[in-house]
Amino acid sequence: MEIITDPKNKILSSPTQPIDHITSNVKSLANDMYKTMIKNKGVGLSANQVGCPLSLIVFSDIDHKKRYDLINPKIINVSETLCEMEEACLSVPGLWGNVIRPEKITIEAKNLSGKKIKYKFKDLLARVVQHELDHLSGILFVDKAKHVYKQSKYTNHEF
Ligand code: ZN
Repeated sequence: MEIITDPKNKILSSPTQPIDHITSNVKSLANDMYKTMIKNKGVGLSANQVGCPLSLIVFSDIDHKKRYDLINPKIINVSETLCEMEEACLSVPGLWGNVIRPEKITIEAKNLSGKKIKYKFKDLLARVVQHELDHLSGILFVDKAKHVYKQSKYTNHEF
């Protein structure tokens, strides 16, 4: 599975479609996306980054101990506290940038079994989820970053 690495590709700037039926195709797409994410040393990936315009994201914590697959995720609450953090993206190679986002979020989604789930995230996971949700809306971190630069200042995780 190939990740789209041209930030100008239209699929990356187009909103994705909700998933109505969680078929075996959707499950294998999620599995393939997760493998592709790990192989490319990422911590998150959205379906449109691999060319499928569907509302599906996969991500993990930084050491890949816990895997998350979220279908039709929606942010239902954000903290008032904002924080600035460096981001990078598997679809925008060679660029980093600081983005200001809420520090904590609550999201609702379905898991691969079709069960409705609710999560609260903070720190890096809140960051990854917001970055991936932007992908599902056709937004890249470089559209939101205050500064974009060609050398990572802190980290090397990519979403
Ligand atoms: Zn990304």
